[in-house]
Amino acid sequence: MSDLHESAALSARRQRTRSALLAVLAEYGALSRADLGRLTGLSRSAVGSAVADLREQGAVTEETAPHAHAAGRGRPASVVSLRRESGLVLGIDLGHAHITAAVGTGDGTVVGEATAPLDIDDRPEEALDTAAALAADAMRQAGCEPGRIAAAAAGIPAAMDLRTRAVRAPTVLARWIGLDPAAELERRIGVPFEVANDAEMGARGERALGAGRGLNDLIYVKASHGVGSGLVLGGQVYRGASGLSGEIGHIQLPGASNWCRCGNRGCLETAVSVVEVRRQLGHVLAGADRRPVPRELPPLAELAARPATARVITDAGRTLGRVLADLVNFLNPAAVIVGGELGRAGAPLIAGVRESIDRYAQPAVAEGVEVMAGALGVRAELHGALVMAAGRRRTRT
Ligand SMILES: [Zn+2]
Repeated sequence: MSDLHESAALSARRQRTRSALLAVLAEYGALSRADLGRLTGLSRSAVGSAVADLREQGAVTEETAPHAHAAGRGRPASVVSLRRESGLVLGIDLGHAHITAAVGTGDGTVVGEATAPLDIDDRPEEALDTAAALAADAMRQAGCEPGRIAAAAAGIPAAMDLRTRAVRAPTVLARWIGLDPAAELERRIGVPFEVANDAEMGARGERALGAGRGLNDLIYVKASHGVGSGLVLGGQVYRGASGLSGEIGHIQLPGASNWCRCGNRGCLETAVSVVEVRRQLGHVLAGADRRPVPRELPPLAELAARPATARVITDAGRTLGRVLADLVNFLNPAAVIVGGELGRAGAPLIAGVRESIDRYAQPAVAEGVEVMAGALGVRAELHGALVMAAGRRRTRT
């Protein structure tokens, strides 16, 4: 296990501990450390370090209990309670086929979460109403009301014009054009929202909590129904002049000519969207079994472990890497992190991306870039929204 993985595992364990404590505090109100240990089954030292972390984040307070003197000896008893007004934030991840809302502290700790499958593309009103219902559910689980949420952020799979706060992409989420999702969410949920492109949220999530920790220059790719990217350059999220940067799904592939939903031909997305890769995998599976193309495919991680289907995945990685190689040449990032549903394919996908970057980027630039699957998987965007909201909380208090 490398240092990076070891610290990621450690950090995941600490986050689970903190989540467990916050969950029982939401349910029972104020609790002593001993009760926290009893209710969560955690050791005294685990409770102690988690309480210290949560106090530092401002998520909980610890005070001497009013009847502490009754014990008469030893350290006076204290009780830990949630400090909801400054600690908890709300994050929403809107994807092409799902919506997830979560309440947490923005460091990977999630206290309440609710999700629903929904094709959001053609039904913005229904999507926004569902997002509000899921947010209410997540807040209920966390034991907090909207007025106690310090800040909120949402990621959306569309180009956002950050000057007008409106969705602005005539071919993606066409029915959302001109909508101000932040205002719509704020009106429904009663919390001020910041909304940004989902790939930007993924980049924020992976940089704060996942594969990109400590890196100031990285390209995050969200490869799902569409292919988008989030950029961190010089330690800052880069959005472009009006917030529309990162549309790598519509960069032309050399030699490709399939029509794209954007009206152009040969876009990267036509070759490596998860829909197209699944189509190719279905074809291979049908060929192997001499049966019609299956409707439901096994999970990508499983297909990545079979030689015939792994080749299809590696090939998709090479194609993705062909475009990334040019971007790596241009930006000289420390890492390329591949997330989204396609990122779940793992090793064979990353091997393909690596191969193309080594083949097409300048040797010194290629040598300096690490190519990785996202450590947060398809949760990077949700965590990124929580991270962004937590950042706003700090600037507001
Ligand atoms: Zn296109």
